[in-house]
Amino acid sequence: MLNQLTISELVSKLATREVSARAAMQACLEEVQRADPKIQAFISYDANDALAQADAVDKELAAGGTYAQRSLLGVPIAVKDVIAVKGQPLNCGSKILGKFISPYDATVIQRLKAAGAVIFGRLNMDEFAMGSSTENSGFQITRNPWDASRTPGGSSGGSAAVVASDQCIAALGSDTGGSIRQPAALCGCVGLKPSYGRVSRYGLVAFASSLDQIGCLAKEVRDAATVLEVLSGVDHRDSTSVPQPVPHYAANLTGDIKGLRLGLAKEYMVGGLDPEVKQAIDAAVKQLEKLGAEIVEVSLPHTDYAVATYYIIATAEASANLARFDGVRYGLRVEGADPIQLYSKTRGTGFGAEVKRRIILGTYVLSSGYYDAYYLRAQKVRTLIRNDFLKAFEKVDAIVTPTSPTAAFKIGEKADDPLQMYLMDIFTISANLAGLCGISVPCGFTREPKLPIGLQLLGKPFGEKTILRVAHAYEQSTDWRKEKPPVG
Ligand code: GLN
Repeated sequence: MLNQLTISELVSKLATREVSARAAMQACLEEVQRADPKIQAFISYDANDALAQADAVDKELAAGGTYAQRSLLGVPIAVKDVIAVKGQPLNCGSKILGKFISPYDATVIQRLKAAGAVIFGRLNMDEFAMGSSTENSGFQITRNPWDASRTPGGSSGGSAAVVASDQCIAALGSDTGGSIRQPAALCGCVGLKPSYGRVSRYGLVAFASSLDQIGCLAKEVRDAATVLEVLSGVDHRDSTSVPQPVPHYAANLTGDIKGLRLGLAKEYMVGGLDPEVKQAIDAAVKQLEKLGAEIVEVSLPHTDYAVATYYIIATAEASANLARFDGVRYGLRVEGADPIQLYSKTRGTGFGAEVKRRIILGTYVLSSGYYDAYYLRAQKVRTLIRNDFLKAFEKVDAIVTPTSPTAAFKIGEKADDPLQMYLMDIFTISANLAGLCGISVPCGFTREPKLPIGLQLLGKPFGEKTILRVAHAYEQSTDWRKEKPPVG
């Protein structure tokens, strides 16, 4: 079953021409047809276009094309519906974009195409990436492949679900407060959020520009490293992308972590953490120690303020970014007697409840009279949170935490209680506030029902090399990745 392979396994078969790119793409499409009616992760996909891309790869390989220049030749990669792919629908999980077709490729898509990847499908997500369960999608509710009555997490729930259920080989997601790592944990795959500035955001529809970052979901750590290498690097179209050299992330995965210092934050192993999750994390920490890492206690004293700080900054930025969806520029347009009516009817019809809630909150914290009390203060606390981490990283090479306080929750369980939903981000959002990199890797299962648990490693800004190395060493010393969900 070619759709079950990792990138490295598939590439080695393609390179020797033991299998064709068409056969690999076909296997994924067959799995989509079989599994997706249940999972509902794809909003749309164009099978003919995907097969045509695969055929072009087969021609190139037949003509002597090699992996030296094009590291992802023939690898099917599916894309979250918030990243622009030329000629394909771009909806951000929202009704407000109507029948909008992207006129250009995001930089990450250009880079994947240059590396030979086969780009296919639009993956479901919480509307404009606002949520932790994919229930806020304007299209459909995606199901967790381990238990269809549960959410896959979010907002990149579609991306995590398709990777975990082998409907594709890897996927792109975006992470503003945990949206790659949390669904990866809840679906049982690897999710990597790069440092702010590592990957260009050009062509990523903005939610909160100072927090957003594109990353990937994959079946194992080595694959995440391979994709990151392709995505990374400065881009003149995103002035926040940083001109730092891109290391050979995959080549650095030695399995050796002896002498590395890993921090355990005392503020993270407290109330709200599910006992089975805590047990799995404790066991993973022991395993890391066995592999030669030294565990050091660190303190992140401003942890308690992270969720509140995030929801002020993220909503403030969202309220500004989403002003462009006005019925004039893109997609949906509901006519009105005057322009104000046109705006309000279009936005009233096109946006879902959570997006409206955030626009209202964000507009409020930015309004005169409240700006100093909320937005400005949140920015100051953000600096304190960042300083906590920078101080901790003077003592340790990476920080170990749970990715999510619980395993996958039931569809509908938190949908009516935004605060409960926001608390799902407690361990992931600080990384975005501080510009850190983070990865989630499977570290066990709850017992009944059997649901995946994720271990999170946080690294310094531009410390991807280290967290990938630790995550890989841990992953290879355990068998969690070999377990497959019932639907896959
Ligand atoms: N769950 C968080 C939110 O709702 C994070 C979302 C994200 O990372 N895009 O904002």
